[in-house]
Amino acid sequence: MNIKNYINGNFQNPKNNGWIDNYNPSNGEIYGQIPNSSKEDVEDGYLSAKSAFKQWSKTTLEDRSRILIKISELLEKNLDRFTEAESKDNGKPISLAKAIDIPRAASNFRFFGNAITQFASESHESIGQNAINYTLRQPIGVVGCISPWNLPLYLFTWKIAPAIAAGNCVVAKPSEVTPMTAYLLGEICNEAGLPKGVLNIVHGLGTTTGQSIIEHPDIKAISFTGGTATGAHIAKVAAPMFKKLSLELGGKNPNIIFADCDYEDMLNTTVRSSFANQGQICLCGSRIFVEETMYNTFKTDFVAKVKQLKVGHPSDLDTNIGALVSKSHFEKVMEYINIGKQEGGKILCGGNEVKVEGYENGYYLEPTVIEVQNDDCRVNQEEIFGPVVTIMPFKSEEDVLKMANEVKYGLSATLWTNDLKRTMRMTNELEAGIVWVNTWMLRDLRTPFGGVKESGVGREGGFEALRFFTEAKNVCIKY
Ligand code: NAD
Repeated sequence: MNIKNYINGNFQNPKNNGWIDNYNPSNGEIYGQIPNSSKEDVEDGYLSAKSAFKQWSKTTLEDRSRILIKISELLEKNLDRFTEAESKDNGKPISLAKAIDIPRAASNFRFFGNAITQFASESHESIGQNAINYTLRQPIGVVGCISPWNLPLYLFTWKIAPAIAAGNCVVAKPSEVTPMTAYLLGEICNEAGLPKGVLNIVHGLGTTTGQSIIEHPDIKAISFTGGTATGAHIAKVAAPMFKKLSLELGGKNPNIIFADCDYEDMLNTTVRSSFANQGQICLCGSRIFVEETMYNTFKTDFVAKVKQLKVGHPSDLDTNIGALVSKSHFEKVMEYINIGKQEGGKILCGGNEVKVEGYENGYYLEPTVIEVQNDDCRVNQEEIFGPVVTIMPFKSEEDVLKMANEVKYGLSATLWTNDLKRTMRMTNELEAGIVWVNTWMLRDLRTPFGGVKESGVGREGGFEALRFFTEAKNVCIKY
């Protein structure tokens, strides 16, 4: 199946007729092609967005909201179709795509369709100066949205929905590794009555298509989610053009477990926070630190549970761990397992490729637990982004806090304890944009989402996203 670009409401081939193969990670086979769009295609997307902006930015909030909610409803109506497409394109279990990815994409549109009707700005009365100041929150114009492959439609729509709700028009690029659901979204937008040109989806490689978006002088803001190195590159390109930037980047998140936690809840959630989506979630708790007094108990129970996870074809309903997203990513994760061994880490379980019967060329890997001696090793410092976690014991709160913060990343942290004072101390000190206490990945779309240090700049979610996608203009009236 050939995917096309979605520009001005139409589906079209890339102008240079350049194509990239699209792989099915569950069997390693090519099952379609996607455009490798050039600068000319991005320019087409831009011109279409620019011409739609005048009218879209003046469209009433009620009408914008109605269209976004319609998109949400149509995604729900097409749940099965989108679920199958996402699972096939990404390798994730179909059960996960159905329970999380597609419902969340629908929620993104519904949430921002509602949020825009509640978004307000401030006024300041300048007492004694006979003046009133008020702030206008105006859409930026044409904005660029670039997303990764791990939660394809979920993260793509997390950017697009607030951008268009706020009155902008968009040139968007999904990951070239997982383009399918973004392609299908175009059809839904047309059916929902989104005016032509408000959303333009241009497919292709980061270094060509993505680069053309970030270099475009009149695309005034870039919302990007992906790797830290790519984020740094985008910042370099965008800074001299003074583009507004939101960067959601990599993570190496600590999962800190104290002996006073609710043990069963912690254990079950830790299996999920380690291996959900094959460990390919930027929020996964990939460094597990366990209080010394319960370390051996935890180690035994955790490894026993991880061994029960079923690695299998994504469409089997009892599969817990599907395929990794691509051959190159599979090789990268395997390389890290070898690095872990060379560094003296002990493989407690996993570590090997899995051959799923009938799908021997798919990219399957056992969920892997590595016991490490210290936190300085590469498998504890570098983002692996696969079904691999490390575990090690700690003695004191002070020690674990130091280790938790001694990475270049700062996306999320998870803390398991029932001690309120410790919770307060540690949540204050952990260097992360999100701290979960006695839970993981419990999301409320109103909350600010993002990281510190090399995990990013800016926040998505709730009104933060609407603030990002608008310019504040102060108007001062003297009377
Ligand atoms: P990536 O950086 O390779 O690619 C992300 C997107 O950027 C893709 O669409 C890609 O084509 C594009 N891109 C690449 N080079 C570009 C360039 N020069 N100009 C413009 N666009 C370019 O990341 P990935 O491998 O797709 O995703 C995995 C990474 O994403 C991990 O590091 C993960 O932690 C991170 N991530 C972060 C969050 C978060 O919210 N912080 C969420 C999910 C994933």
